Amino acid sequence: MNIELLEAVTAILRAGGIEDAGLEAKWILEDAGTPEQAREIAQRRAKHEPLQYLLGKWEFYGMQFYVGEGVLIPRADTETLVDAVLAGKQQLPEKPAAVDLCTGSGCIALALKRHLPQLAVTGIDSSEKALGYAKRNAGYNRLAVQWLCDDVLAPKHSFAMLDLIVCNPPYLTADEMEQLQTEVRYEPREALFGGADGLDFYRQITAVWRDALRHGGMLAYEVGFSQADAVAEILSENGFSGIEKHRDYNGVERVVLGRRCSAGLHGITA
Ligand code: GLN
Repeated sequence: MNIELLEAVTAILRAGGIEDAGLEAKWILEDAGTPEQAREIAQRRAKHEPLQYLLGKWEFYGMQFYVGEGVLIPRADTETLVDAVLAGKQQLPEKPAAVDLCTGSGCIALALKRHLPQLAVTGIDSSEKALGYAKRNAGYNRLAVQWLCDDVLAPKHSFAMLDLIVCNPPYLTADEMEQLQTEVRYEPREALFGGADGLDFYRQITAVWRDALRHGGMLAYEVGFSQADAVAEILSENGFSGIEKHRDYNGVERVVLGRRCSAGLHGITA
């Protein structure tokens, strides 16, 4: 590695207040084709454009994903959702059917498909742009997932007898949206904002999608900081049982899941 260039790039990043300047400089040099490109990326990074967009690729669950403007960057926290689903895989039938709502880059659907090859999974998003990344990521990782452009709150397509629904919806509150880190402001607002209290998508998706699950089928959500109890409550109000909460690497309750109750337990039998 060109030490002089590494030092120059580190200095550009440090001047912009980038915390891990040395490490990011190394990644930028590994990615850039020429010294000019490395400096140019560093100048943009120094203005707090997300490193992931500048590099164009990011790692999630040991896999590589293309990312860029218009799609949410996969986060390590979201690996908790994949782990939680895989932990319950013995309860899945031989050929399970799943949907990943608000799929974005497709990272959840693709990580699940990698570890559950028999899974028939459809990734759904309202953004054609995001789905463009998802499709590219499926090709790059050589995995077969279906992609569908639809509004998950009022879907035009219908599903039935699903074994699994996973979803990392937008969940930031109005207050959190006001205080976003500069980097996060580059990401699509519609992938972040979950209404005044951040819970709009949990309320609506749970009600709209519940009946698409078979009895005993699982609905698993990623949730925002301190939302786990409220989301567990939404699941139980909608007739889900066996509700579990799973913590992320930082000890934050990050995933809430439940199973659709068997017929008759809703109290609506007529
Ligand atoms: N985890 C993201 C953040 O903290 C939010 C993503 C989402 O709303 N699902 O910025």
